[in-house]
Amino acid sequence: MAEPTGSEETVPRADADLVHLRRCVDLATAAVDAGDEPFGSVLVAATGEVLAEERNRVGAGDPTLHPEFALARWAATNLTPAERATATVYTSGEHCPMCAAAHGWVGLGRIVYATSSAQLAGWLAELDVAPSPVRALPIHEVAPHVVVDGPEPTLAAQVRALHARFHAARPAGG
Ligand code: ZN
Repeated sequence: MAEPTGSEETVPRADADLVHLRRCVDLATAAVDAGDEPFGSVLVAATGEVLAEERNRVGAGDPTLHPEFALARWAATNLTPAERATATVYTSGEHCPMCAAAHGWVGLGRIVYATSSAQLAGWLAELDVAPSPVRALPIHEVAPHVVVDGPEPTLAAQVRALHARFHAARPAGG
């Protein structure tokens, strides 16, 4: 293997994906530390620059404050259509239908998620948590033209543990 020359980083794309997904899990951890549900997301430009990041903030009473929704609205305000189309949204959990719709409406690019909505539904059932009021549809059911990659198997146990920690700290049915 050749050493990279000069100052240019030659990180393979898959490794870059993992770096951003790990940051999403860190943000999800921060959300649980703040008493919120464990979700975190990062918006990355085509250049690899991190443009914005957000964690779940539904704990204050607004159930629509998902990080993917916040990033879609940030992108609508701050990025050109071309910049949005080439940006990638990394997230600890696959977009819910609301966030997938926002992503599609705003015209953002690729999505990479650490864990799927199907995995989450299974974990919440195991944890005896009441099902979501919104059906868990795959992103492609809502935004059929978005390139989607995931899940990342090496992060599943860590994300599941965050959900277990969040729900263990709440009254039954919460
Ligand atoms: Zn959502």
